[in-house]
Amino acid sequence: MRERELLQRIASRSTDLGASFAHVLVGPGDDCAVIDAKPHPLLLTTDHLVQHRHFDDSLPLELVARKAIMRSVSDIAAMAGTPSWALATALLPVGYTHADELFDHMARYAREFGCPLVGGDIATLPPNADGPISLTVTVGGHAPRPILRSGARVGDAVYVTGPLGGSLKNNRHALAEPRLAIAQQLANTIHAMIDLSDGLGIDAARVARASNVRIELDADAIPIHPDAKDLEAALGDGEDYELLFTAPADANIPDAIARIGRVVEGKPATILVLPDGTHRDVSAQGFEHG
Ligand SMILES: [Mg+2]
Repeated sequence: MRERELLQRIASRSTDLGASFAHVLVGPGDDCAVIDAKPHPLLLTTDHLVQHRHFDDSLPLELVARKAIMRSVSDIAAMAGTPSWALATALLPVGYTHADELFDHMARYAREFGCPLVGGDIATLPPNADGPISLTVTVGGHAPRPILRSGARVGDAVYVTGPLGGSLKNNRHALAEPRLAIAQQLANTIHAMIDLSDGLGIDAARVARASNVRIELDADAIPIHPDAKDLEAALGDGEDYELLFTAPADANIPDAIARIGRVVEGKPATILVLPDGTHRDVSAQGFEHG
C-alpha cells in the first residue's frame, strides 16, 4: 500500500473524534498533530529512519543520527513552531557495537536543535537478522499560531525558502538546516506551509488538496540547486527540507525567499507553467518514502 493511502486510512479513523477529544486540534494529515495546551498549542511529530531506505551505508553514523533528528525538527518548522523535546527509539541487530555512539550523536544534535532527548528505547532484532537498522524519532514543540497545510487561499503567492534538487549529493539530505527561524518570523503572514521532504511536485499537491485549491508553479522561477541536474531534479528529487508556503501576494517577504507561483481556483493539483505558457501536471513528481 502506498504511504499516501495508508496515511489517509489513519486519518479517516481520527476524523470523528468529536467533542470528547476536543483537545485534538489537528489530527493525522499535516506535518504535525496539534494538541490544545497552555500557553501555546503542542506540536507532535514522529518519523522513521530505515537503513537502505532513508540512508545507505556510505552515510557516516553521525549523519544518520543527525538526519533522524532533523527530519522531525523540519516538521516542527513546517508548522512555524519551536522544538522543545525529543524521544528516540532504535531497532538494532543483535551485537550491534555502535549503539552508544549513535545515541550520543542523536543526543548532541537534539540539543543543538533545541529539543533535548528526554527518553528513548533500544530493541534488538531477532537473532540472525542483521538489519535493517531502524530509528524512530518523536519531537514535541509548540507554536503560538500553528500553520497548517489547509490555509492556502486563492490569490496567494507561493514561496520556497531555498534552492531545490540534488540533495543526495554531498550528503545534503542529512545536513539540511530546518527553517525554524524564517517560519517563526513569518508566522503571522503565512497562510499554509509544508516542508519539502518528498519533492516539490508531490508536496505542493498536498497543500493544494488540503486547501482545495490549485497551485501553479512558474518553471523559470523555481530555484535549482547547483547540485541538481535540471528542473526535473528540482521538482522531484525530494529531501530538500526547505519550506514551501503561501502568503498574500502583497505581503512583505524577504528577498532571499523565491516567489515561484500562485494559488488559483481549480481541481487540486500542482501545475507547472512553462515559459511558452503550456501547463503540465506535476502532482506526482517526487519520491514517496513509504
Ligand atoms: Mg513534513
